[in-house]
Amino acid sequence: MISIFKGNEERYLGWHQLNPEGYVFNHFKGSDPGYNKIHTADCRTLWREKDHGARTKVEKICSDNLEELLNMSDVIRKNKGYSLCKICMKEEQIKRLRSIATFLYR
Ligand SMILES: [Zn+2]
Repeated sequence: MISIFKGNEERYLGWHQLNPEGYVFNHFKGSDPGYNKIHTADCRTLWREKDHGARTKVEKICSDNLEELLNMSDVIRKNKGYSLCKICMKEEQIKRLRSIATFLYR
C-alpha cells in the first residue's frame, strides 16, 4: 500500500515503525533524477541527525512493496526519471528492477 507524507513527521515515523522493511521514494521534484531517489526505509541517508523533525519537508512516498513503489514513481516522474540509492539498494536487486521500471540509475 502506498502512503504519502508531506509535512507530517509523526505519521511518517509511525509508518516507518510499522514498515521497517519497506521502501521510500524521496520525492524532491525538479528535473534531476539524482535528487529523486528510492531508498530502503532504513537507509542511513534518510535518518541523518540534522534532518530530525524535518524529514517530511521533502515529500516521502512510501510502500511495503517495491514493485508498487516503482510503478507509482514511473507515473509521477514520467520521462524525468528517478534513481535508486546505491548505498542501500543491492546491485543484484537493481539489475532485476532495471528490466521492469524506467528509472535512471546513477
Ligand atoms: Zn538509500
